[in-house]
Amino acid sequence: MSVDTNKETLGFQAEVRKLLDLMIHSLYSEKEIFLRELISNASDACDRLRFEALSNDALYEGDPALKIHVDYDKKKKTITVRDNGVGMSRQEVVDGIGTIAKSGTRQFLDSLTGDQAKDARLIGEFGVGFYSSFIVAKKVVLTTRRAGSLHSEGVRWESEGTGEYTVESLERPERGTEVVLHLRKGVDDFLDGHRLRAVIRRYSDHISMPILMPKEDKDKTGEETVNAATALWARSKKEITEEEYNEFYKHVAHDFEAPLAYVHNKVEGKMEYTSLLFIPSRAPFDLWDREHRHGIKLYVRRIFIMDDAEQLMPAYLRFARGVVDSNDLPLNVSREMLQRNRAIDTIRGASVKKILGLLEDMAKKDPEKYAKFWKEFGRVFKEGIVEDPDNRDRIAKLLRIASTHDDKATQAVSLADYVGRMQANQKYIYYVIAEDFDTAKNSPHLEIFRKKGIEALVLADPVDEWVMSYLTEFDGKKLQSVAKGELDLGEIQDKDEKQKIGEASSKFKDLLGRIKTALDDKVKEVRITHRLTSSPACLVTDEYEMGAHLQRLLKATGQTVKTSKPILEINPEHPIVVRLNEEKDEKRVADWSRILFDQALLSEGGQLDDPAGFVHRLNEMFLVISGAQVKS
Ligand code: ADP
Repeated sequence: MSVDTNKETLGFQAEVRKLLDLMIHSLYSEKEIFLRELISNASDACDRLRFEALSNDALYEGDPALKIHVDYDKKKKTITVRDNGVGMSRQEVVDGIGTIAKSGTRQFLDSLTGDQAKDARLIGEFGVGFYSSFIVAKKVVLTTRRAGSLHSEGVRWESEGTGEYTVESLERPERGTEVVLHLRKGVDDFLDGHRLRAVIRRYSDHISMPILMPKEDKDKTGEETVNAATALWARSKKEITEEEYNEFYKHVAHDFEAPLAYVHNKVEGKMEYTSLLFIPSRAPFDLWDREHRHGIKLYVRRIFIMDDAEQLMPAYLRFARGVVDSNDLPLNVSREMLQRNRAIDTIRGASVKKILGLLEDMAKKDPEKYAKFWKEFGRVFKEGIVEDPDNRDRIAKLLRIASTHDDKATQAVSLADYVGRMQANQKYIYYVIAEDFDTAKNSPHLEIFRKKGIEALVLADPVDEWVMSYLTEFDGKKLQSVAKGELDLGEIQDKDEKQKIGEASSKFKDLLGRIKTALDDKVKEVRITHRLTSSPACLVTDEYEMGAHLQRLLKATGQTVKTSKPILEINPEHPIVVRLNEEKDEKRVADWSRILFDQALLSEGGQLDDPAGFVHRLNEMFLVISGAQVKS
């Protein structure tokens, strides 16, 4: 039968072109990783075939022994990686090899700097997979056939890694994929059996399929298995080296960098499963997307079942990578079944505890490493306060928060540290939330705290207000926002000060009423405060209302928020307030009240309704105070 080859020449997606170019120029010092990437793909393809064959044995086409072959030809200057895995249809080749379907590709490309060392690292983080072939190859020819398809449905893909590639159909009796690399000049050292074996043992020993190479005798007769070819997690911990764990991680996580930490756990007894979980060193580009999780691979009795088994990890630990291999689940387990499966719930609960244990250990023994973890994943991890009430106390202990007692947002303290250095009479753990560290740190709400040297935690992540609304207590101490409710400094405040407020409130009673009248549509109450030392006014919300920062965030994302009016607090000792108290002109009281309100809003990072009006009123006030004539 003749095959209509229907040869097409297609252009790479622009992103692929850019990536290829970068890779060839940036990864030259790590050439050998191409082999790891191709073997990793071959192993995934075998895993997928084994899974699909569970429900359709015919896909094996009579050959269920899954294998990967690596060969080289000194004369032709080629290296070949071949698998008898699931293979690809023509459409799958175009979709999988001609385009990058990954989310975050754009941001990734935008983040590249042109600095080769930096870019090499970023490329590694992004994961390059198949395209890494072009680091060593001037031409790549991939032939493949989807398992179970007709022999005439083979596909040949070829490219020189520049702008285009060709695809054509061909007759191919073997299922699976073969990748032939035609090497560039200067990389001939790879055309050597010992070198290739060393690379395979180094990076791919953990691959559970056998990786075969021709024997190195004169005629290269017969083949031998080069790798250990057992599932790494099934081996005893004692026998696995750090290096092997690291390489295994790079394979499951599609990462170039070694993980920050891992935990390997074998459970025997009523339930039997093994988990091998990793914390990466760096956050992927799309980590913030709560919908996007691809972390844990599920195996049942060593057989790969699915990627991204989201039931195995809660969303706040979506950065964890690894495998769970259960002996109790049926092989035909589906995603739907995972949702209500007791074995899965137990495994998930235990895996969460393992990860928390790993983090606790890291925080205790290696605070610097933990700080690195926090910098990469803290913003996601803290969602656990909301999402995982059962472990809330453990998660709270692992939080790291910037503080007014530190100069930089990156210096973070634990709640235990904070409690440890609380002032003798301090009842609450105070915190401030704003758009960024500087706005928060300079917030007028903190003036009295600065004066009295009371520490406050400084929160500036979008999720913080949401998270803090669930974290109301730590170690028996209530957490208190400095911008909510009446400020109760308890015993820290001396009696004199309390008395002063009482006196000021009656002295300014009339003024409070006049300001309230002027700002009736803006504030729900005007009162005297002791939290200010240098600013004339600030805004606070009621204890149980949504904070101003969160209201703004929600509005910015287009949500309708039931906004509550804030409370305006004024500083009775401030000269503007004192002056305002003597003002007879009601229009002026109204204008100045509005200035107080607007500046309080500005200083907490809010936006003015009427900026031009603010400037106008402010200028008039300058003129009045400086005694100049106001021209109308
Ligand atoms: P990744 O493996 O990270 O998805 P790659 O660029 O390495 O990215 O591969 C792109 C896609 O091409 C894979 O997701 C897979 O669908 C397909 N692919 C690559 N190599 C093989 C192979 N040996 N057998 C079957 N499919 C493959």
